[in-house]
Formats: sequence, structure tokens, C-alpha cells
Amino acid sequence: RPALRLGMVMMPFGHHQRLMLGRDISDLMRLEQVRQDFVANVSHELRTPLTVIHGYLELLDPEDQPELAPVIAEMRVQSERMGQIVEDLLMLSRLETHQPLQEEHVAMRPLLATLRKEALALSHGRHHIELQERTDTDLYGSVRELHSAFSNLVSNAVRYTPTQGRITLIWERTDEGARFTVEDTGYGIPANHLARLTERFYRVSSSRSRDTGGTGLGLSIVKHVLNRHQAQLHIESEPGHGSRFSCRFGSMRLLKPIRLDA
Ligand code: ADP
Repeated sequence: RPALRLGMVMMPFGHHQRLMLGRDISDLMRLEQVRQDFVANVSHELRTPLTVIHGYLELLDPEDQPELAPVIAEMRVQSERMGQIVEDLLMLSRLETHQPLQEEHVAMRPLLATLRKEALALSHGRHHIELQERTDTDLYGSVRELHSAFSNLVSNAVRYTPTQGRITLIWERTDEGARFTVEDTGYGIPANHLARLTERFYRVSSSRSRDTGGTGLGLSIVKHVLNRHQAQLHIESEPGHGSRFSCRFGSMRLLKPIRLDA
């Protein structure tokens, strides 16, 4: 058991104490496993009933009963939201099971183009959206996971930036490797919240987050995905002026792009 070994190797105690410590840690690990399994099972079990509710709501035609139209609309929004929470919880559970990372060539050019399109679709023309590709370097990692992490940062930027704001996506080389940054001129985050931002369900303002359709799980997903790629999330923000979220990758994660025409 790794926990036992950790206790025995790291701690300068007597034999008996080392065993006790080892057992305490493995108890904690078992509890953590129970928590993870519970979340995964509940989320999985919620999927089917939600799909059924969702399906029936789609069948209801508000024009048949105009007085119910606002109720039906609200029920659709809320079931959509619940579906998103369940999907995010399942994604987090998958990330927590420590399955080996599916490593492949991540072509950044098409990924960045997709992220830009997603930003435009979410913004509905309310923001200035810019993509700066300062390098043609690619990444080595999981396309699915990295796409999901970067998308979360992009959708946050759109949701927490008022109309007319500017959102910039930047992909560039650094001394250590490369960096993907999402910058916005939005509401910003007070400094005392920054340290806890990647905790599950942590929100600076729950009403604003709920209004904008957040699940409170986005940044936890980002942090897990980056951890699995040995990358770091850096957050800078100035309330009232905007925020900058950057994902920093080490040079071992970089790849030269494949040129089909070469
Ligand atoms: P949510 O689904 O609530 O957006 P996240 O985990 O993605 O959950 O983000 C956690 C909290 O961090 C949000 O509720 C919001 O308060 C804050 N936040 C995240 N991104 C930004 C941003 N670009 N600008 C301002 N606040 C942000």
C-alpha cells in the first residue's frame, strides 16, 4: 500500500507509530475512495431520469398552453442546468480515478479555432473576441481533457465579462515551455477568493454564477486536467478590470506540429 510506505519512509517515528500513521492514512484514503465512488454512482444514476424529464419537456409545446409557456421555459433551463452539473460531476469523477492519461498529438491550430468559435457562439456578438497564435507549437496530452479545460476558461471569460468587454485567447512559447491564456476585461475576482477558486462548487458570487449558468465545477475540472499534464494554472485578477487565467505547460509537453504538406 503506497500510504503505508509513505508513512514508514517519510516519518522519523518508532516502528509502532509508523504503522499507526500508515493505517490512519489508508483509512483516509478509503474514505476518499468511498466519497469518489458515491459521487460517481449518484451522478450516473441521475443521468437516466434526467434524460427522460428532458425528453418530455421537449415534447411540451408552449403554444398549446400559452399560460404555461414561462413555466415550461424555466423548467427547460433548469433541467439543462442539472444535466450540465451531472456531466461535470461525471467528468470530475473520471479525472479523479487516476486512469492513465490518453496521450496523443494535440494539434493546437484546430483546437484554438474551435475555442474561438465556442467563444463567439456563447457571446452572441456581445464581446470583442480575439485569438493570438504566437507560436505553432503543439502539445502532447489528451485532446478531450485539454479541450474541456480550455473551454471552461473561455466560457467563464464570456460569462463574467459584461457586454462590450474584450476577451483574448493567447497561445505562446515561454522560457519554461508554452502557455495558453484567456484574458478578459470582466468583473474580476477579489484577491481573498483567488486561493479557493478551484475548489468544487466554490463561487465568488453564487447569484451571478447561477444567473450565468455556471455549475461551480469548471475550475476544479481545469485544475485536475492541468495536474494530469504536469501543468499549472495561474490566476491574476483585478476587480472591476478583468482577469487572466493561464495554463503553463513544461517543455516535455511540447511537440512540433505535423505538416501534412511537408
Ligand atoms: P462557475 O460554474 O460558477 O463559473 P467555476 O469553477 O468555473 O464555476 O468558477 C468558480 C468561480 O470563479 C465562479 O463562480 C466565478 O465567481 C469565478 N470566476 C471564474 N472565472 C472568472 C472570470 N473569468 N472572471 C471573474 N470571475 C470568474
